[in-house]
Amino acid sequence: MATRPDYYKTLGVDRKATPEEIKKTYRKLARQYHPDRNPDDEQAEARFKEISQAHDVLGDPEKRKQYDSGSGPFATGAGPGGGFGGFGNFDFDGNSMGDILSNLFGGSTSGRRVRTKPRAEKGTDLEAQVSISFDQAVSGAQVPLQVPMHQSCPTCHGTGAKPGTAPSVCPRCEGRGIETQGQGMFSISQPCSLCGGTGTVIEDPCPTCNGAGAVRTVKRLRVNIPAGVRDGSRIRLAGKGEPGRNGGPPGDLYLITHVEPSSLFTRKGDNLEVEVPLSIPEALRGAEVQVPTLSGTKTLRVQPGTASGTVQRLRGEGPPKLGRSGEKGDIHYRFVIDVPKNLSKEQESAIEELSRTLDGNPRAGLFGNGSAAAAAAASASAAGDTAAKGAGDGS
Ligand SMILES: [Zn+2]
Ligand SMILES: [Zn+2]
Repeated sequence: MATRPDYYKTLGVDRKATPEEIKKTYRKLARQYHPDRNPDDEQAEARFKEISQAHDVLGDPEKRKQYDSGSGPFATGAGPGGGFGGFGNFDFDGNSMGDILSNLFGGSTSGRRVRTKPRAEKGTDLEAQVSISFDQAVSGAQVPLQVPMHQSCPTCHGTGAKPGTAPSVCPRCEGRGIETQGQGMFSISQPCSLCGGTGTVIEDPCPTCNGAGAVRTVKRLRVNIPAGVRDGSRIRLAGKGEPGRNGGPPGDLYLITHVEPSSLFTRKGDNLEVEVPLSIPEALRGAEVQVPTLSGTKTLRVQPGTASGTVQRLRGEGPPKLGRSGEKGDIHYRFVIDVPKNLSKEQESAIEELSRTLDGNPRAGLFGNGSAAAAAAASASAAGDTAAKGAGDGS
């Protein structure tokens, strides 16, 4: 025959203890052995279960009476399954126990604050926008930043409980975090609706954080923007997010960069592009021209007969490639021929001189070779020249 557990001994109370005394002792022990307070301590956990079971019986006047008299479910050897090999043969129904406990704990359980689960959790990831100049984007920068975030409440150190108090065992689930509805084979277990599965509730919330365990603050940071970011880059700053909970690692901070455009350089992928005006003689005869780089100037050799739109590039003079250390993009120099709007008398006669010698038709290739259309186009072009000139003068 199985032995009957001595619940009075488990709780350390006298057989004649009043319900008040049992309640008081139980609460004291439950706090002491609660798994939240004794993480990874199997002995404490086993003790906590014993205490809870003892209280489940002794805390209920009806069950206590049956227990004391050895009747009902407590009758030893009363038939098959009647032994006390385990604690599974009487009703541990979650609801009724919740009611009993909530009575014992002094009234309604509604409105109690729920405590965050004492499992290590990574802090929340945050996102912030930073505006930087073009130069800062190219060379990298350290910028001050104010990031609103939650931090562990300084008053309660994150417990959510008023200083001097501690979160207590959830009266509905007795700290198990699970509620069971129904009986036997048809019972359904689900996270406790009162404590949300954490097993604890806060009866006296911390006045600073209102029981949340965290407060909203603005954290001032100096963040390093890596060289080579672009407008709209998303940079991950590991560990700069909200602090972790219960010893968990902090979250990350994602920075979205807004880069002011440069008056000179246009970003094209990994490279930069600059427009370089050439005078007509430079384009015709070739030249050596000074061009800007990110660090100063360089000389480019312009080939004779350079067409408008020709691109020359300087490899490795561009911005650093983000995430590929040491690699840099290029700068593309796009030549555009600077056409003067107004000509002096001297320039005009020089152009006259030039047009006499440059008498070919550059558009001949647009039309069929030697066809009537080509001839018509050529003569139309000659007439068009004067027409265009007249229009230009008028404007
Ligand atoms: Zn607090
Ligand atoms: Zn609960």
